Amino acid sequence: MPELNLVLLGPPGAGKGTQAERLIKDFKLPYVATGKMLRDAVDSESELGLKAKSFMDAGDLVPDDLIVVMILERLAQGDADQGFVLDGFPRTEFQAKALDAELTKLGRKLTAALWIDAPEEEVVKRLSGRRECVKNRHVFNVYFDPPKHEDRCDMDGSRLEAREDDDPEVVKRRLAIYAQRTAPLIDYYEHREILKRVDGSRSTDAVGDAIRATIATLKFEEAV
Ligand code: AMP
Repeated sequence: MPELNLVLLGPPGAGKGTQAERLIKDFKLPYVATGKMLRDAVDSESELGLKAKSFMDAGDLVPDDLIVVMILERLAQGDADQGFVLDGFPRTEFQAKALDAELTKLGRKLTAALWIDAPEEEVVKRLSGRRECVKNRHVFNVYFDPPKHEDRCDMDGSRLEAREDDDPEVVKRRLAIYAQRTAPLIDYYEHREILKRVDGSRSTDAVGDAIRATIATLKFEEAV
């Protein structure tokens, strides 16, 4: 299979970031996570960061035009020419269409949209336990993947903190927005026959194995 152009779909807390980490290691693909790019932009107080911050703090989506410009610039950097893992993008039909249009222009297409599906109670619990280190944003979970020392990153020793948008009220809003704006992309990709559902309620390893099996099948189908 010449290219592996993957989109990760699923509610906040489904484990997209965790699974993306495995995918980029296994398949040597660049990781493009709009949430992380935006948090970096906020930290560096760039023009984009200043515009995006209030939407992010409220759990709202950052406007499509800003996101589409940001992602197209990122995909044009060259390292994604042979494939990519998109996490957190697209989140609206407008974004999905913009991505399709750009890929078509380049003679490329998405290989699969991996939908990591997980029930609401589970994702709420995962988000409430999520902690990120302030230095490199390594992610832990106080319930499922606790750090060795309380509130300290195992990797770089920096302080761990909850993301502002993991506050329970903001989480409620993010889930409502997911249901309203992003969940319709499940049908969108199903119509394009590239949707692959993975049961994300299981352990990280089990979900990772299921994703690897899905990709192996895609490669096999491509080869025959
Ligand atoms: P995430 O880390 O993917 O949960 O994203 C954190 C926040 O960044 C979201 O709640 C949105 O405010 C913003 N964001 C990330 N990706 C997008 C996107 N594709 N479209 C609009 N807003 C986004």
